[in-house]
Amino acid sequence: MARVLVLGGTDLANAFVTVLRAAHPEFEIVLSLAGRTRNPRLPDCEIRTGGFGGVEGLAAYLREEGISALVDATHPYAAQISANAAKAASETGTPCLHLVRPAWQQAPGDNWHHARNYEEAARRLDALSQTHPLTVFLTVGRQELKPFHDLMNCTPVVRSVERPEEAELPPGARVVLARGPFRQEDETAFLKENEIDVIVSKNSGGTATYGKILAARALRLPVLMVERPPLLEGEVVGDVESALNWVEGGLESSSR
Ligand code: NAP
Repeated sequence: MARVLVLGGTDLANAFVTVLRAAHPEFEIVLSLAGRTRNPRLPDCEIRTGGFGGVEGLAAYLREEGISALVDATHPYAAQISANAAKAASETGTPCLHLVRPAWQQAPGDNWHHARNYEEAARRLDALSQTHPLTVFLTVGRQELKPFHDLMNCTPVVRSVERPEEAELPPGARVVLARGPFRQEDETAFLKENEIDVIVSKNSGGTATYGKILAARALRLPVLMVERPPLLEGEVVGDVESALNWVEGGLESSSR
């Protein structure tokens, strides 16, 4: 029996599980979540939650659970688990695929500035806000707010599915609770209502969070784009159909 482990925590992972399940009801599919979100949206399959315990823990899991194929469909900025997946798969000889949404590309009208990481983004905001105060929409995720704690002349606006802990928030941050996807019209209203001067964003790719990029383009707002961590070596695809083909090809050839 083919047993596929999908590392998730993304809409893309959920979409992949749904497509794989419909195409191959005979497969056993396990979706793994880090357990950061309290009420995640879940597809219909076996779910496991929590870290594996590094590369060793994941390798042990792959062996013990008899995993035939591993699909890493985590977020492009979840670099640790993707690196762990690649190593554990190589140690155990488990076929491994990274399913990653292609990055957004800058289009005419976009006013993007690039930062290599969150620390650099914070330094750039500090420099920009020397002459006048800025209201900054920090759409980087609550785990990544620490580098923005010492901004002097900025009012941070943080949007999150669940209210972040007080200690996670930059001092003076305004918190807005909401769950995507967010359409361009809603994002335009949000940016105007909150009088946002600049957006700090990850380059997540996909459509679910692209509304803010479209809204920023229309409003001519600058976007400070934090670059993706370097791409992993190994097999990488950008869409669910290609991932399905990979699983089918791999499992067919291994059962021959
Ligand atoms: P990370 O830094 O790459 O991973 C840190 C540790 O969390 C990993 O070493 C692993 O612990 C555990 N972990 C992460 N994803 C896991 C999964 N799917 N199943 C089991 N354990 C997992 O990850 P992160 O950036 O904190 O992201 C955590 C989760 O949130 C991921 O599932 C990711 O897809 C999702 N997410 C992340 C972002 C983002 O911007 N980073 C955005 C949206 C969603 P062990 O070493 O103990 O195995």
